[in-house]
Amino acid sequence: MAGFRVGFGYDSHRFEAGRRLVLCGIEIEGETGLKGHSDADVVLHAVIDALLGAAALGDIGSHFPDTDEKWRGADSAKLLSSVVDEVSAAGWRVGNVDVTVICERPKLRPHVEAMRLRLAGLLRCPVGGVSLKGKTNEKMDDVGAGVGIEVHAACLLEGIK
Ligand code: MG
Repeated sequence: MAGFRVGFGYDSHRFEAGRRLVLCGIEIEGETGLKGHSDADVVLHAVIDALLGAAALGDIGSHFPDTDEKWRGADSAKLLSSVVDEVSAAGWRVGNVDVTVICERPKLRPHVEAMRLRLAGLLRCPVGGVSLKGKTNEKMDDVGAGVGIEVHAACLLEGIK
């Protein structure tokens, strides 16, 4: 495919006691985890939908249905890797991604560089093409009340064929 394609992804998960918190394939120790059928990696889920959206290849739910036992506890890093394979086969590579993570906690700053590196590896692109920003919701609405985490992700795909 020639040219460029833009994509946008969104996801949200609520916190659930007793689960581990995995963001961008990295376990954040000592924090409450997120409820979900897979490992509930809300960041990677939004990025997956951004990639699939840019390539017009459907969405995360059509690829990995949460009604399928096969995906229970799934490692979202593996799901993203398989989506990158699919996007590559369709003639695209990731140019850059820009991700905004909204939560009152955990504080993301200490984890941002590790998360960017992990994401760059999974996307097979230079870390300079991976932006990850943490924000709070200024105590507004459910996310601001600490109910869960919300993520918005934009990506650009470049044609390789
Ligand atoms: Mg999700």
